[in-house]
Amino acid sequence: MSIHILPAQLANQIAAGEVVERPASVVKELVENSIDAGARSIEVLIDRGGHKRILVRDDGCGVSEQDLTLALSRHATSKLSTQDDLEHIHTLGFRGEALASISSVSRLTLTSRPQDQDKAWQAQASGRDMGVNVTPAAHPVGTSVEVLDLFFNTPARRKFLRSEKTEFTHIDELLKRLALSHYDITIKVTHNGKLLRQYRGAKTPEQYARRVAAVIGKRFIEQSWAIDNQHQNLRLWGWLGTPQAACASTEQQYFYVNGRVIRDKLILHAIRQSFAQFIDDKLYPSFVLYLELPTEQVDVNVHPTKHEVRFHQARLIHDYIQKVLNEVIQPHFEQEYAQEVS
Ligand code: ADP
Ligand code: MG
Repeated sequence: MSIHILPAQLANQIAAGEVVERPASVVKELVENSIDAGARSIEVLIDRGGHKRILVRDDGCGVSEQDLTLALSRHATSKLSTQDDLEHIHTLGFRGEALASISSVSRLTLTSRPQDQDKAWQAQASGRDMGVNVTPAAHPVGTSVEVLDLFFNTPARRKFLRSEKTEFTHIDELLKRLALSHYDITIKVTHNGKLLRQYRGAKTPEQYARRVAAVIGKRFIEQSWAIDNQHQNLRLWGWLGTPQAACASTEQQYFYVNGRVIRDKLILHAIRQSFAQFIDDKLYPSFVLYLELPTEQVDVNVHPTKHEVRFHQARLIHDYIQKVLNEVIQPHFEQEYAQEVS
């Protein structure tokens, strides 16, 4: 066979293989877009675990009529334009792939009205060539993205979908993680017409703590130490569960780097070591921690799902986290020890 450029839909479906694993991955991409759009309020409506329908509605900046088609094209983004931007990423998205990928494996409708316009427009992705239909629509300022029949045209992928209940559990878990990444945004979650979660936007530290309690339980907040440490241009803050709050699974491990949900071996190692003497090997420490550092010191463009990052000074970050946590944990045990001795 001679070499040829792949048709757009096929190229997008190949890209979708990397970012769209299941309904929860679609929800992640759409909610992250809403966050990047400066939304104050985000509604997530799911039908049948996302098999049937995923709708994310926000009150963010919106997309103009002329940008609607572009928004659904691959490598089209408003978040990045130069190589320098790539080294200073402040948004959750930047690859310009999510909407193109999702629309290649579903029936996607993007409806939006920008702040400065009094009309809304709607774009529907349809057909093999990724052709987009743009028509007038009714919508308040902000954006809605509706994704119907995920994987309807990729039966091999569809086969891997789990039960509606399992898929919804993944969505719920993901939204909890996102809810703690951006405290100030109100997030509502409805499944099969039932409002299941309502995370109110928080402004004060007390409201923050209440939101953490709403997401992972009051018990966690009661059994945790609040942390806030600043060292040069690094800051680590949040809540560290006491050894009593350790769990049999990793479900209460929430770590954010510059507002992004991260699972990083190096960071987990640092935290684990700080607790080494104090919790059982079979248990996992629980925490909600935020690491903030200058964007040029961390590379987020490691993997399409962006769950991983690469620190330019990995050792330094590891040791910083460990030092801060040790300073929190150790005094409690020294006190206990002193009490036992006296
Ligand atoms: P990326 O987020 O990497 O830029 P996406 O495919 O997710 O790529 O989105 C493409 C573009 O569509 C974004 O850059 C943005 O300009 C626009 N967009 C997508 N969702 C929204 C939204 N909810 N509100 C405003 N603009 C949006
Ligand atoms: Mg995006």
